[in-house]
Amino acid sequence: MAAAEELFEFYKKVRIGCRDCRGCFDCCQGMGNSIILDPFDFYRLEKGLSAGPKELLEKYAALNVNDGLILPNLRMEGEKEQCVFLNGEGRCAIHGFRPGLCRLFPLGRNYNEGKLSYFILEGACSGPGERTKVRIEEWIAEEPIERYESFLTDWHYFLKGIKEKTAALPAEAWESAVKTASVNILEKFYLTPYDCERDFYDQFYERFKSVSPEGSSVETFEKGS
Ligand code: SF4
Ligand code: SF4
Repeated sequence: MAAAEELFEFYKKVRIGCRDCRGCFDCCQGMGNSIILDPFDFYRLEKGLSAGPKELLEKYAALNVNDGLILPNLRMEGEKEQCVFLNGEGRCAIHGFRPGLCRLFPLGRNYNEGKLSYFILEGACSGPGERTKVRIEEWIAEEPIERYESFLTDWHYFLKGIKEKTAALPAEAWESAVKTASVNILEKFYLTPYDCERDFYDQFYERFKSVSPEGSSVETFEKGS
């Protein structure tokens, strides 16, 4: 994020409304590996599609190195690199349970000293017409927003801690440490199915707390500061 960009908290109204996109689907194509999926996205997709995590990974996601760890991202396919969930009418086939980064666009997340805030990705939304003012929490539409933000913040700092630890390793050890940490993260938080009848956050924090910071290493997990 550029230093000069203005930061907003979730209760602020910002000029991002695009009047239901009105036929535009620019942010559903050509996004490369950038729509990274978090464990809540996997839970929502498992529930919405009645699919297991392995099926999700095979059909709808791809694994790529993203900012120093191998994490799943939404799969783009075809000549135009379109999202696998974009339907023939140019609409999102999973609108009600689309991933968090899709809900967020054209906002970005900023983490500072354990706090999450938002900024506008200026010029990112190419939809027609004037932007209208919308409250950020209504735009994201994830209730309760405080709980969602706590999860996002914990997840962010957890990954950050692991990335910092691996980045500090000598070059010859880096690749295998990243692979090992990534496999552990995938198995623990993505590939072990969630019980879709139960609350996501309860299950996430059961897994999260089972990650022992004491005596851990990049071969296991490292809780970020
Ligand atoms: S999941 Fe839906 S909103 Fe997100 S990129 Fe795919 S089609 Fe677009
Ligand atoms: S670029 Fe903007 S208007 Fe176009 S689909 Fe994305 S959010 Fe909607």
